[in-house]
Amino acid sequence: EAWEAFDLAPLVRSALEWVVKAQRPTIETQFDLGDGLVVVGHPGHIHQVLMNLVQNALDAMEGQPVQRLDITGRAGEAVTLTLRDTGPGIAPDIASRIFDPFFTTKAVGKGTGLGLSISYGIVQEHSGTLEAANHPEGGAVMTLTLPAGSAAN
Ligand code: ADP
Ligand code: MG
Repeated sequence: EAWEAFDLAPLVRSALEWVVKAQRPTIETQFDLGDGLVVVGHPGHIHQVLMNLVQNALDAMEGQPVQRLDITGRAGEAVTLTLRDTGPGIAPDIASRIFDPFFTTKAVGKGTGLGLSISYGIVQEHSGTLEAANHPEGGAVMTLTLPAGSAAN
């Protein structure tokens, strides 16, 4: 798979289709993707990252009274995508370990602990960043930045 310039927006929609609609169509999703979220890289690998992030959000929101996933995209010198969920957020005592391979808080068979570590590696290969934080009003916020590509490339 060669590197190419591509828009993130359709990949976000596809990841949601694969993960949310297949598993929990009742989840509320809200997008603000703006225009022209063009990056350069491997679309298949970035799709994998997005599916991992969406899956984690879904897992975190299981059993929560409000289940909403807000995805915001902004293009500038870099393209920034944030995913905010309404789960419990990331506990401070595990925050430094969530990107480690095989670190999981999920039951056996429910999580391998590889999603974030693989995603982190993919994002690094793209010279991007992947960060986890908690929203002041609750829930986890995952922020992905990728160098902006030009659609004309
Ligand atoms: P897995 O999903 O298989 O557990 P990941 O590498 O994807 O492995 O995630 C590692 C851990 O990070 C999860 O087990 C969970 O504890 C935490 N985590 C990841 N995303 C979220 C999120 N959106 N909200 C709360 N915790 C999260
Ligand atoms: Mg995961």
